[in-house]
Amino acid sequence: MPHRPNPPSHCRRCGTCCRKGGPALHQADLALLRDKSIHRADLITLRVGEPVHDQVKGQIILLDAECIKIRSQDETGCCFHQPAPARQDIPNGSTTPPQGHCAIHENKPVECAALKCWDTTDLALAAGTPRLSRLEILGKDNAMAELIRDHETHCAVADLLRHLQTPTQKSAEHLRHATTYDAALRDLLQEKAAVPADHLPFLLGRPLSEVIQSLKRWLAMH
Ligand code: SF4
Ligand code: SF4
Repeated sequence: MPHRPNPPSHCRRCGTCCRKGGPALHQADLALLRDKSIHRADLITLRVGEPVHDQVKGQIILLDAECIKIRSQDETGCCFHQPAPARQDIPNGSTTPPQGHCAIHENKPVECAALKCWDTTDLALAAGTPRLSRLEILGKDNAMAELIRDHETHCAVADLLRHLQTPTQKSAEHLRHATTYDAALRDLLQEKAAVPADHLPFLLGRPLSEVIQSLKRWLAMH
């Protein structure tokens, strides 16, 4: 019989979970934004209706509430993940095995604090608590909140999906209009309101062209 390694019973700091991507934020994480452990530039919003991989269910679902996540990068996963140094960068004679670490270890979000890859019970409980929304972070009565509501009206993901499912000339026009609106609003925010480009994934989510591509992939699978 092939040898099976024993499942882990404690965190070995291998970083595998962090390489899979950043966590979703929950209401208990609001304090981390207020004390600036986490900044807007570290975030991305996945909007209602977007297809996402549900870590607990292990399947792709369409979001029924928006999800604010810590941003990820292709090679190292979560943007706070500091991977172990490459072999050639380890000083000669070093006896300590190199390990990666979390740049906000002392202030990590609730999902990360609950994550034990050998037992997902606590993670499922943390993931089931209410998620943070953009308006809970920004406040509901201000110009930015108004712009976000307008963007949701013109660029609702459910409308994009409906138009992709029943392609007609009107649908093509809607997709074109929504994509143009989304791109123009991103330019306007940077040029007229001095919003940094790296805040846009949090404020408006992914560019609409990317959302449309992910919806097409989801449709191809269903
Ligand atoms: S919890 Fe994450 S870092 Fe710890 S052993 Fe499991 S995969 Fe590795
Ligand atoms: S916040 Fe820290 S613990 Fe959580 S996924 Fe990112 S690097 Fe890992």
